[in-house]
Amino acid sequence: MLHATRYMLLATYCLLVVACTDDINPSSAANGQNEFCPYKCAPAAQPIIVIDPGHGGRDHGAARDGVSEKDVTLAVARQLADELRLRCGNKLAVRLTRNNDSFVDLSQRAAMAANDSAALFISLHCNSLETVPEGGSDIEGAVIFVAPPHLPAISSGDAMEQSIAFNRLRSHRLNATRLAQTIGQHLTHDAARSSAHVRQEQLMVLSMATVPAVLVELDYLTNATQAKFLASRHGQLMLANAICDAIIEYSLNNGLLSTLD
Ligand SMILES: [Zn+2]
Repeated sequence: MLHATRYMLLATYCLLVVACTDDINPSSAANGQNEFCPYKCAPAAQPIIVIDPGHGGRDHGAARDGVSEKDVTLAVARQLADELRLRCGNKLAVRLTRNNDSFVDLSQRAAMAANDSAALFISLHCNSLETVPEGGSDIEGAVIFVAPPHLPAISSGDAMEQSIAFNRLRSHRLNATRLAQTIGQHLTHDAARSSAHVRQEQLMVLSMATVPAVLVELDYLTNATQAKFLASRHGQLMLANAICDAIIEYSLNNGLLSTLD
């Protein structure tokens, strides 16, 4: 769950839809390079995937019928980490921003997204409406947020260093959109979500990220059917497997992984 004013926008589905991936060169990206990032796109020995289970501790996030967002995000994150380790072995490293019911400050999470040693940052949340109409809400579906394409001014370093930093950040934003689209495809095809829209939002963990970063709203806790799915072991496994498939597909297509063999 994010701040209340944004939910008003979410409820009416009026946020911008991302449409900026046509700048990416698919053939070069498939080799782990693209025209905007000739500096830091060679596959790392062991790329680090950071998974961020939203909320925790005193911050329950959204809650509905005894289901807390913080518990759903932790369960899915743990399962996702297990799946990635099982399927990728030591080809990828997986880190969680929390691995228990502890409170992690937003600035700490953002700092982890701004850590250059990471390869990807994936924050997990559950969506909710600010006000649920009498009789319940039928609004459902996943939403994957990425940072807007406009970039912050870079003031440190000389002109060449600023240009390099700018191009790296631009590359990360484009790759975040590609990752978000891949996650969305798998959430609808493999985890039976009714929709999975990619949207832009100025969120701290995304805006401060210096690696490709996405925030996944898995589905709506304010929808009784989806709340049941989110709280179920079966649902959490489906969501984790779908996101795992997406991360592996993205990693193979963008040079983080060369092969799973
Ligand atoms: Zn949340």
